[in-house]
Amino acid sequence: MTTLRTPAQLCDHGLVWPDRQTALAAVAARYAVAVPDALAQLIDRTDPEDPIARQIIPDVAELLHHPKELTDPIGDNAHSPVEGVVHRYPDRVLLKVTHICAVYCRFCFRREMIGPGNPKALSPQGLARALEYIRTRPEIWEVILTGGDPLVLSPRRLRSVMNALADIDHVRIVRVHTRVPVADPKRLTPALVRAMKIKAKPTYVAVHVNHPRELTADARAACSRMADAGIPLLSQTVLLAGVNDTPDVIGELMRALVECRIKPYYLHHGDLAPGTGHLRTEIGTGQQLMRKLRGRFSGLCQPTYVLDIPGGHGKSPIGLNCIERIDSNGRAHFVVEDFNGQRHQYPPQAASVESPGGQGRPLPPRVSQSR
Ligand code: SF4
Repeated sequence: MTTLRTPAQLCDHGLVWPDRQTALAAVAARYAVAVPDALAQLIDRTDPEDPIARQIIPDVAELLHHPKELTDPIGDNAHSPVEGVVHRYPDRVLLKVTHICAVYCRFCFRREMIGPGNPKALSPQGLARALEYIRTRPEIWEVILTGGDPLVLSPRRLRSVMNALADIDHVRIVRVHTRVPVADPKRLTPALVRAMKIKAKPTYVAVHVNHPRELTADARAACSRMADAGIPLLSQTVLLAGVNDTPDVIGELMRALVECRIKPYYLHHGDLAPGTGHLRTEIGTGQQLMRKLRGRFSGLCQPTYVLDIPGGHGKSPIGLNCIERIDSNGRAHFVVEDFNGQRHQYPPQAASVESPGGQGRPLPPRVSQSR
């Protein structure tokens, strides 16, 4: 597979105009670029607003940083007890084995932590410490392999991580978060699929897909290889301006996922990652889409629309009826509740830097925290 990694290569392949090449060098110096062949082939080079290009081709708008954007927008660092582990919720942890991806998405919420310039992967000693952390905490029921993209690992390396998790009795579920099925579907060989399966414990795979065109014949075949092997498939979609923020596109995407035996799981509101304002929508846009989805599409096609609360407070559903809207100084704000019953204003107020994640001081709880 060819992967384009520099503005000059993108220019040579007709994916950016030559007069943009110099300006994009500054973007590429700041944020990783990788455009794999499978996605590059989907781009309509005559469409300046192509929805695949918007997700993966660097844009000078990425150099514009909004004051409310955060280098660690969902607060991973505040909940990282040892390198490679994020322990935000009691019964599950993230395990970040690699910091490499098959494609570098322009809206990535971990864009400061992945790609060139960062360590490629956990060291063997780091992995041993992360596994020891999991092994000594019986409350951990589920381990989510994320990253970076765990499916860039070789089958041998992935199998060794899966086997180590299989040996921990209290870990009952392993989940893999990946964009490889659409970014590099041929990488999902039978050997890689076999490496994900462990004895007596289910492996779930959450596939990151944002536009129906990403579900090519090759991508569908890759998903079939996993589903046929008995791996339940879920989806994750990021709501993105100019990509999937219309009822027709999001509806078509959800139907295509279900046809591929992938249950729509999360529709993520765009995180406050640096330089991603041009791709973020308003929450009201997402709620309107959810309303249309509910009215026009099968229950199988309904994801949960969620916001990762800045500061590391976890996800909150923000679909219909799940949040309040208040006026403050004439501006619209949202109040979301985390899983502890703490309420947070969104976007966070810049002066409220007191929470564990360093951003977004919790508001008084609306309900008892003992529920
Ligand atoms: S695949 Fe996921 S982790 Fe990698 S760049 Fe895209 S959003 Fe970020």
